[in-house]
Amino acid sequence: QVVTRFAPSPTGYLHIGGARTALFNWLYARGRGGKFLLRIEDTDRERSTPEATEAILKGMSWLGLDHDGDVISQFEGAARHAEVAHQLLAEGKAYKCFATQEEIAAFREQARAEGKSTLFRSPWRDADPSTHPDRPFVVRIKAPQDGTTVIRDKVQGDVTIRNDQLDDMVLLRSDGTPVYMLAVVVDDHDMGVTHVIRGDDHLNNAARQMMIYEAMGWKVPVWAHIPLIHGPDGKKLSKRHGALGAQEYQSMGYPAAGMRNYLARLGWSHGDDEFFTDEQAKEWFDLDGIGKSPARFDLKKLENLCGQHIAISDDAALRQEIEEYLDAAGLPALTGTQSDDLERAMYCLKDRARTFPELLEKAHFALTSRPIQRDEKAEKALSSVSDGILDQLTPQLQNASWTRNELEETLNSFAEANGLKFGKLAGPLRAALAGRAVTPSVFDMMLVLGRDEAIARISDAAA
Ligand code: GLU
Repeated sequence: QVVTRFAPSPTGYLHIGGARTALFNWLYARGRGGKFLLRIEDTDRERSTPEATEAILKGMSWLGLDHDGDVISQFEGAARHAEVAHQLLAEGKAYKCFATQEEIAAFREQARAEGKSTLFRSPWRDADPSTHPDRPFVVRIKAPQDGTTVIRDKVQGDVTIRNDQLDDMVLLRSDGTPVYMLAVVVDDHDMGVTHVIRGDDHLNNAARQMMIYEAMGWKVPVWAHIPLIHGPDGKKLSKRHGALGAQEYQSMGYPAAGMRNYLARLGWSHGDDEFFTDEQAKEWFDLDGIGKSPARFDLKKLENLCGQHIAISDDAALRQEIEEYLDAAGLPALTGTQSDDLERAMYCLKDRARTFPELLEKAHFALTSRPIQRDEKAEKALSSVSDGILDQLTPQLQNASWTRNELEETLNSFAEANGLKFGKLAGPLRAALAGRAVTPSVFDMMLVLGRDEAIARISDAAA
């Protein structure tokens, strides 16, 4: 069974890169009936905060990236991590190193002077335990000293490291606490992780982590180190490229489905497919489709995909997501009636809206109420037809049955009878119904508003 994990360090919000890493792991597991686990790498007590963990969980929940099992705290596993170091010590695969900071510094100094590698070679590696002094020590792994280590990476290919470039990495500090590198390996092993998909900034760590797998005789997971995300200018994504927090995109009104689709395409491809559903993404996602070069963040593409997802979304689901967006953005919530009206209007709003603010702009007619505030363009459209024309229209609307066909017929013949092009009549009607010049079609608005409300608004404008 496939087991993947997302292992963020809780030092800030969930950023775009992290969200994409989580998504890749989620897609890989979900598409294979596997498990997707979440581990919070909170061993750095100075930099880790509960608020950051909260923010990461919220970001994942917005993106719909549900994880299996409990959230695992790496810090809480410290005793287990140390136990593994002690096992290696007992098996002679690790050793106690009593070298002081000064000795290590002096070693480096001399190596530099002699033009040799400055990797620390501890004199304690092969020391007889009976010669051990009574003073603090660290536990170091016995790194392989010749040959090579090959990281068989699904994205980077085979990455070969000369073992003489590996040092005897510290596993336990002198206070007995385990180092991060050990914690990661032990956790991944204990959690049964089969595939490690993460940023390629961790590629170097993989070589060191392999030493621990090998010393313990554990199965090495499948590695997939994915290239980082760059900004549109090709430079590493940073604050100056705009929003970095995944959830900022929620507050800007991007639908989660569109964001998932976009993030999935950021560094991964499936033929020419740009737009796809979650089901397709789960079915298609694989490690072979991940590119070797950094993907560039492109807001236009994100918006375009978001528009397509809004268009195919279920009305009730959209209504709920829009309410969550308003909350996330700190905007006033909809009243119950507004929310119902929004859902009824949804069918004519979701085409060609790329974001929720755009959709809500189109929804203005359904959310506003009499007296309708008219903007300048609407006032202009109203004054472009002769007085009384809307008054003549209302009795005809009273008698029309309230269907699209009949409304079209009524308005068209009314326009014709008054020697007006339909567009000339539509402008004032938009102004009357919505108070704006840019709106959904007058028929859609009339159908959504219903006969009484539509006629009342038209009468108000005629007066
Ligand atoms: N905690 C690391 C990070 O946030 C990830 C480590 C890993 O995936 O192995 O970058």
